[in-house]
Amino acid sequence: RPQAARGLATGPGRTKDGQRVELLLNLGGEDPERAARHDCEGVGLLRTEFLFMDRVAEPTGAEQSAAYARVFRAFGGRVVTVRTLDVGADKPLAFLAQENEPNPALGVRGFRMVRTSPEVLRRQLAAVARAAQETRTRVRVMAPLVATPQEAADFVALAREAGIAEVGVMVEVPSAALLADRVVREVDFVSIGTNDLAQYTLAADRTRPALSDLLDPWQPAVLHLVGRVGAAGREAGRPVGVCGEAAADPLLALVFVGLGVTSLSMAAAALPVVRGALARHTVADCRKLAALAMDAAGPCEARETVRAAVDPAVLDA
Ligand code: PEP
Ligand code: MG
Repeated sequence: RPQAARGLATGPGRTKDGQRVELLLNLGGEDPERAARHDCEGVGLLRTEFLFMDRVAEPTGAEQSAAYARVFRAFGGRVVTVRTLDVGADKPLAFLAQENEPNPALGVRGFRMVRTSPEVLRRQLAAVARAAQETRTRVRVMAPLVATPQEAADFVALAREAGIAEVGVMVEVPSAALLADRVVREVDFVSIGTNDLAQYTLAADRTRPALSDLLDPWQPAVLHLVGRVGAAGREAGRPVGVCGEAAADPLLALVFVGLGVTSLSMAAAALPVVRGALARHTVADCRKLAALAMDAAGPCEARETVRAAVDPAVLDA
């Protein structure tokens, strides 16, 4: 293999013209020591549900701190982005009084739990702050399913009260993407969850395989929203990540960079191929790919048009 290609196979993500694009890991209840061996710049999404599901009682602050500290230590020196609890009425927790909701995806889920159980969120934030301090790790927290700039501001206030320095929100509800310019001004960073953003933009249940054509993150409507968030981030000087599964698609990763996304968080298996795709394209190339995808008539045309326009080496990887 040519030296250039070999040299590109490891280390921080960067485009061909040298713009850094952080390559981060999505993590849940997996063994953190093992996960930390992957060549990544940190954790872009720590799904904390694993600590809470299947429990009759809320894990204590000490137990939560210990679990978070284990992840922080494993990734020693690298950034870890903790997402606060994202349970909904479809995933009831025994220790949270939740009503039976006819439309759980539109119910009290994600950050909305602050309406019913703010103390659970406060205790989680305190446990994260304590673990960050103990391990002297750069920790960021973000809230799921934030719908309005006011909710973003409310979350920031709660997290700062707990002593957390870097606070962000996920953009995965179309209303937050539409007002991205206001949302980004409230926070230190945002991270786009393409799984839910596609679900809510196309009004297509993400658990229904029969709707997978609508749920496709290549849907131009989803890309337009991502572009809106990217532009708002650039304008305000705030980082914009993508942590939905779409970041693991090397072609979409290029499109996202063209739309202004500054970090990509994904399953470990996708890191090398996304790193390689970035290394073969300049930011200007990515912008051209993004324009092609956004102008396409639908997700299939978007994917095929971009596929035909990238460096073919990406497709062999
Ligand atoms: C998303 O919605 O894209 C996301 C990253 O969060 P989750 O899949 O956990 O809802
Ligand atoms: Mg989500």
